[in-house]
Amino acid sequence: MDKDLYSVLGVGEKATEDEIKKAYRKLARKYHPDANQGDKRAEEKFKEISDAYDILRDPEKRARYDDVRSGRAYFGGGGMPGGGFETPGGGFEGFEDLLSSLFGGGIGRSSRRQTPSGEVEVPFATAALGGRVEATIRLSRSCAVCGGAGGTGEKTCQACKGSGRRTEKRGAFSTMHPCPVCGGRGKVLTSACSSCGGTGRTTSNDRMIVDIPPGSSDGDLLRLRQPDGSSAILRLRVPPDRFFRREGLDIHCTITISAPRAALGTTMMIRTLEGRIKLRIPAGTQPGTVLRVPSRGVPSGGSRGDQFVHVEVSIRPPSGDSERRLWEQLLDHEGRLRRREAD
Ligand SMILES: [Zn+2]
Ligand SMILES: [Zn+2]
Repeated sequence: MDKDLYSVLGVGEKATEDEIKKAYRKLARKYHPDANQGDKRAEEKFKEISDAYDILRDPEKRARYDDVRSGRAYFGGGGMPGGGFETPGGGFEGFEDLLSSLFGGGIGRSSRRQTPSGEVEVPFATAALGGRVEATIRLSRSCAVCGGAGGTGEKTCQACKGSGRRTEKRGAFSTMHPCPVCGGRGKVLTSACSSCGGTGRTTSNDRMIVDIPPGSSDGDLLRLRQPDGSSAILRLRVPPDRFFRREGLDIHCTITISAPRAALGTTMMIRTLEGRIKLRIPAGTQPGTVLRVPSRGVPSGGSRGDQFVHVEVSIRPPSGDSERRLWEQLLDHEGRLRRREAD
């Protein structure tokens, strides 16, 4: 493997998830295509950083990568479906191959696995209401040089002598498996395409406008039509909002009002998904009261969820003598009322 993912991000192999995230953010900001218009080297670097981060931030992929890196596991053999290559070491070489194995991406042209090819961050309100998001997305597409074939020429696979099968003897039984080198085709390509490293796919960072359907949530997968006609899967990342919480089609939020306001009633400006509205809070509102604002939630099939405003009441000690006297007056008044009722 030509690139060590840890050194790409400039972190140690014991780095925590947080350290990896921080290192990635810093580098991504520096090399982002937006900040380096037309700079090829920065673009390459950005891709390299994104690739490394894709693996190291995912505990499962990272563990697999650590195994490969330390030589505990051998990578690349396992059933390459399209067209494998015989390399002197007997395996698949290069960074792209490792990525393909991890993502199932490069190999995906014949195995129809749905692996997200990119991630897009969507603001909370846009995810709820639907809308458009502009994003730089790493897309995988058919290699323009080899047309997706992964290379040229064909010869009989040496590993299986062209049978496409591998037979394993277990005592009296023998079992048959597809040949791991040629993926059962019986043939291998004679030379790998240097542009895509034999994977048949290339990746690039593209600036795109993405249509987000209403009611989208964090982790949703979105199918995106690519310019070459194939489709890419995008994973939506919706960061939590400081004020809103979503429960199905409803939006919940919490406001805190002072004790005098709760007693006297008041009006407040409340954030909704689409700007602020005036909300009337009735006199004598108890802590924990939930007020419903109809049809301010997530749209779905012609109707909409509601927004629920949870009211909390802040009760604190008097801030000074004059405030203390006001509360004492209230208390005296309450005492007089009670005595009068008792008479
Ligand atoms: Zn190619
Ligand atoms: Zn074979």
